[in-house]
Amino acid sequence: MISIEQLCRKNIWSLAPYSSARNEYAGREARVFLDANENPYNQPFNRYPDPLQLELKEALSKVKGVPAENIFLGNGSDEAIDLPYRCFCEPGKDNVVAIEPTYGMYKVCADINDVEYRPVLLDEHYQISADRLLAATDSHTKLTWLCTPNNPTGNCLNREEVIKVIEQFEGLVIVDEAYSDFSSQPTFRAQLSKYPNLIVLNTMSKAWGCAAIRLGMAFASEEIIQLFNKVKYPYNVNLLTQQQALEALKDPFEVDNWVKILLQERSRMIDAFAMLPICEKVYPTDANFFLAKMSDAPTIYNYLVDKGIIVRNRHRVQLCENCLRITIGTKTENSELIAALRQF
Ligand SMILES: *Cc1c(COP(=O)(O)O)cnc(C)c1O
Repeated sequence: MISIEQLCRKNIWSLAPYSSARNEYAGREARVFLDANENPYNQPFNRYPDPLQLELKEALSKVKGVPAENIFLGNGSDEAIDLPYRCFCEPGKDNVVAIEPTYGMYKVCADINDVEYRPVLLDEHYQISADRLLAATDSHTKLTWLCTPNNPTGNCLNREEVIKVIEQFEGLVIVDEAYSDFSSQPTFRAQLSKYPNLIVLNTMSKAWGCAAIRLGMAFASEEIIQLFNKVKYPYNVNLLTQQQALEALKDPFEVDNWVKILLQERSRMIDAFAMLPICEKVYPTDANFFLAKMSDAPTIYNYLVDKGIIVRNRHRVQLCENCLRITIGTKTENSELIAALRQF
């Protein structure tokens, strides 16, 4: 692997970050805060939140098994997806490689940052080939985007191939594990100390049931986390989000219970879809959704919309012709979808 300094954009490596009033006294006991031009009234919302979210990181560290120094917290995974571009990719010059099809934000952020995005098609089983990904890289490739379980396909990527990419690619490999709580596969978080070029993404938006609070995570070497901290907006995670996340983390067993119910429902839904005459194939899944190949996805999609039921039409996505992506809902919601499809 190339050093982080060599991979990093020069202006970012030499950047002197914004230093907030609260960073500067750090550590010492304080009672009177007359440093940040805050209003002394309207507690607790009058005070700026902790820019590095230390209390929340300590709580997450216990749940995720990763030291707090190796955690970055952002305004959704969106922020953790954007920051690697801003830190490592020179606009108009560098490029990134990604599996295709996959989550749309990797390409949107590439386009926003004027970074060439090189999609590498998965095979017919939605599996990656490390050799084909590596063949798409050159000396200007800074990042490789992998997503496992993958969205919209639902399956986990072949572990040996992912490891081959991490071991042989000279730049950074980002493994998005937004759906790993639904999967029985081991998480790549456990491999961080072995691979200094690995970044693993997690989110509170899926299994944790907190999409509204916007909290995404990146796990990586301390060197990478410090770069992200330098570039992020100073108070990127607001007080309400930090408080609500701490509240959610007090009861991880509730999440386990949700996951258990959703996995049972997933298997019921897959069986029901397999019996539908309009369903040609259900793809294997390790997430809280599945991809189904239908006889005519756009027409079925519109039929469902007319009934007030919204699924995701993936017909226009490469390798997903006539596919609908179905999120697992409550028992009642799932049954309503099945009943509507039986009447199609
Ligand atoms: C849903 C999803 C996310 C979550 O994004 P947030 O900004 O954290 O809500 C991240 N990655 C993938 C692949 C997803 O499908």
